[in-house]
Amino acid sequence: MSVSDLVLELSDTIPDFPKPGIVFRDLTPVFANADAFTAIIDDLAARFAGKYDAVAGLEARGFLLAAALAYAGHVPLVAIRKEGKLPGEVLSETYDLEYGTATFEIHPGQIVSGSRVLIVDDVLATGGSAVAATRLVERAGYVVGGIGVVLELDGLGGRDRLGDYELYSIVTEA
Ligand code: AMP
Repeated sequence: MSVSDLVLELSDTIPDFPKPGIVFRDLTPVFANADAFTAIIDDLAARFAGKYDAVAGLEARGFLLAAALAYAGHVPLVAIRKEGKLPGEVLSETYDLEYGTATFEIHPGQIVSGSRVLIVDDVLATGGSAVAATRLVERAGYVVGGIGVVLELDGLGGRDRLGDYELYSIVTEA
């Protein structure tokens, strides 16, 4: 089975989670399947081969992908965390959620200036969190090597919001 078929076959859809009106796409059953998880990491690594020197994961489900990619490629791992979790000097970016705002933070100066950073997360919806991540990566002095997600929810404007950045999603669904 192809990696996209594995994602479609194993993922769950939960209506009204975590709030009424949200159709939650749960990829944890995909990650719980060793063949599927390995295929996802191999696919993202192949798709961006030669285009990144480091990997950044978005808290929290992006960490699962970023750690495996960093190990597979033997490249540095950068954590983009929710507000208040990183000690010391941080850069912050606030972005809009459906209701309210959220803030992501990064530690500057942890990897070589000018590194090409691959940003990864499980799901791309409105793109707000991915856009905030691109800003943090650039403000920290790095270059966005690309954005990789397992599942892109089409029609929420995420791809448009990311403009010219190279975005790859294993599965795109309406
Ligand atoms: P966004 O910033 O709107 O692109 O939202 C992306 C982030 O929120 C990712 O970290 C996803 O894990 C999570 N997310 C947003 N919408 C969904 C959804 N319908 N199902 C699962 N995760 C979602």
